[in-house]
Amino acid sequence: MPDSVSSTPVASDWKKELAASIVSPVALARVRPVDAAALAPVCVRYPMRINSYWLSMMRQPEDPFWRQAVPDALELEDGAQADPLAEEDQSPVPGLIHRYPDRVVFLVSDRCAMYCRHCMRKRRVGRPAAAVREAVAAGIDYIRATPAIEEVILSGGDPLMLDDAVLEEILARLKEIRHVHLLRIHTRMPSSLPRRVTASLAAMLGRFHPLYINIQFNHPAEMTPEAAEACRCLADAGIPLGCQSVLIRGVNDDPGTMAALMRVLLAHRVRPYYLHQMDPVQGTAHLRTPIETGLAILAALRGRIPGIGVPQLMIDLPGGGGKVPLLPESVVSRGPGTWRVRNYNGEVFDYPVSGGPEKGGGS
Ligand SMILES: *Cc1c(COP(=O)(O)O)cnc(C)c1O
Repeated sequence: MPDSVSSTPVASDWKKELAASIVSPVALARVRPVDAAALAPVCVRYPMRINSYWLSMMRQPEDPFWRQAVPDALELEDGAQADPLAEEDQSPVPGLIHRYPDRVVFLVSDRCAMYCRHCMRKRRVGRPAAAVREAVAAGIDYIRATPAIEEVILSGGDPLMLDDAVLEEILARLKEIRHVHLLRIHTRMPSSLPRRVTASLAAMLGRFHPLYINIQFNHPAEMTPEAAEACRCLADAGIPLGCQSVLIRGVNDDPGTMAALMRVLLAHRVRPYYLHQMDPVQGTAHLRTPIETGLAILAALRGRIPGIGVPQLMIDLPGGGGKVPLLPESVVSRGPGTWRVRNYNGEVFDYPVSGGPEKGGGS
């Protein structure tokens, strides 16, 4: 383990790194070889933010950090829908997505420490829009009035963009609601700005168990000493950590990179949860992979890394149909009584499919 992380992060560290973010193409062109004129119109439509931590990891054009953070003129050439999953239609109040009966996604911030070019909420994140504070109050009222909701997933934007006290108040108000049994936070901070995870944040979150956190790492190089420390801090507070990775062209769309990513997550007590096929969201087509790529990667992971490191490959159906896991085909043929099944090594076996004899009298 690297022990280069000498001092424990405090709030002023991450606020400084965030304040030093690069948000304009001209500023980026001063420190990295980019064509500011070409990026300018993209940033008007889809904002850029590269905080000083992420910038320090962006060593050369097209490396994984670069591809996830530097805008591309292709973002403007994509005619797909802005909201293919119909999240807005499934929002009973602004910023609260109620698709499944028992759980909601609650967008408590529309800002992030770094704007991912592959963002599935590009239509709203980072753009001047919503009065988030009023929306949060309305969202809490809706949750309180809807007993079917058992789990609230804080998302955004990034919920950890909120100050600890604001986040704590939201969590406390949700915890007061009798039918809300589970809290979950979806955040990219452990990889995008790891010093955001301070000891005081972890201690505060640890008072809201059962609380789960799902993070997003897309490449093994994102597990820097700082990121590892952020994961350690949350895990030590008793928070189960899951990872929702996004399959991105040119970043992680090969089995070797993905296996390394899943192994590094396991080594830091993060359980791979979902591997997302990118949604057909406007402005992201150049980063999307064919669906077969994900299936081939999943087939390669099975048998190559521990089972607890194999995420579910998910597609999210258009129009709000919900998430569906896809599996590489393992059943070769289905006969009466026997199925032919292919194993992780490509070998084929016969498997008896009928159950045992039924018990007792019957007809
Ligand atoms: C992804 C998602 C969830 C959470 O799904 P899980 O499978 O429980 O992780 C809930 N609501 C909406 C609208 C979602 O998109």
